[in-house]
Amino acid sequence: MSDPKTPIYLDYGATTPMDERVWQVMQPFFSQDFGNPSSVHAFGQRAEAGLEAARRDMAAQLNAEPGELIFTSGGTESDNLALRGAAFAARAARGANHILVSNVEHAAVARNAVQLADSHGFELELIPADQQGQVQPEEVAARLREDTAVVSVVMANNEVGTINPITEIAALCRARYIPLHTDAVQAGAYLPINVQSLGVDLLSLGAHKFYGPKGIGALYVSEGIKLLPTQAGGSHEEGLRAGTPNVPYIVGMAQAFSLVQGETEARATTLRSLRDQVINGVLKSVPDAQLTGHPEQRLPNHASFLFQGVDGNALLMLLDGAGFACSSGSACKTGDPEPSEILTAMGFTREWALGSLRVTVGIHTQPDEIEAFLTALPALVEKSRALETA
Ligand SMILES: *Cc1c(COP(=O)(O)O)cnc(C)c1O
Repeated sequence: MSDPKTPIYLDYGATTPMDERVWQVMQPFFSQDFGNPSSVHAFGQRAEAGLEAARRDMAAQLNAEPGELIFTSGGTESDNLALRGAAFAARAARGANHILVSNVEHAAVARNAVQLADSHGFELELIPADQQGQVQPEEVAARLREDTAVVSVVMANNEVGTINPITEIAALCRARYIPLHTDAVQAGAYLPINVQSLGVDLLSLGAHKFYGPKGIGALYVSEGIKLLPTQAGGSHEEGLRAGTPNVPYIVGMAQAFSLVQGETEARATTLRSLRDQVINGVLKSVPDAQLTGHPEQRLPNHASFLFQGVDGNALLMLLDGAGFACSSGSACKTGDPEPSEILTAMGFTREWALGSLRVTVGIHTQPDEIEAFLTALPALVEKSRALETA
């Protein structure tokens, strides 16, 4: 049983607690194996051995070659390197100037694409997702052009949990020799990630979403895909990401990824039952509520809703006061009174879109915690509705 005084964490989509086994493998690289992996001497060699073992492990999990994995500071940097790197390289190589990005991307992709258009003269075209937040392959096919530099479609959406048909979309792009990037940051902990069976060219991951440390991530870059580095300097990471690599965090990320990827199938069943407990409970007990995202093709740990006549941020604060940590979509949006661009892109009116709630469960979530949440929620929704009309 959970302690009633300890807040209950239902926000695994924002970040996850680090696995104790991850900390254990990181520790030596802060102290005795502290060397710079670029140094020639024994200290450097020990650090390099740790770095390259991590790269081999993580590449093997992804079904990639070690040389195809670039370590970055997180999901955001991976998205930046993929999108900007591919756009500028394609412009230099073949004069390509068109970028194709879905309208349900995380800000790390969406804002990048807007900046590439506004400040660098690329032509940005958005691929509209459907009402369930899913990007249909036909919508991508209809927009692919000879001069398309890069396509970016999120693997699983962070706000509504919808999983996209990436394999189909990747096949369309490969047939036209256009690089496809997928942001798999939200998917990494809960879906098997195999770059060969997905057929993608670029794939972003961030460790803190899969029970690893914050501030570290990876970008898979398929052999033969050209990127312009977003950060100039030394020749680290195949010349794509200058700067001394963060060895302890990379070692931790590789360990965390191997732990989650080894257990995705086993965990999915438990998570799905907790998630469905949330979905069924909320829809049964809260009037004027709807599920957002795809009813089946969604992350096994992800439930998201809209409540009519509710200010999502006010509801979050009431929930926090009652001891429940949830989110109203992207964690970056807290305090922003504008409705989520993803929800409005999916066709929801401003009034509905303002009342969003995201409940993401994880490996430590217990059924009794969900019960407590479901017991508390209806009155808190009514209270926030009363605030709106007051
Ligand atoms: C969290 C998240 C990011 C950003 O990753 P950071 O490692 O926090 O920079 C990007 N895309 C998606 C889909 C995410 O969920």
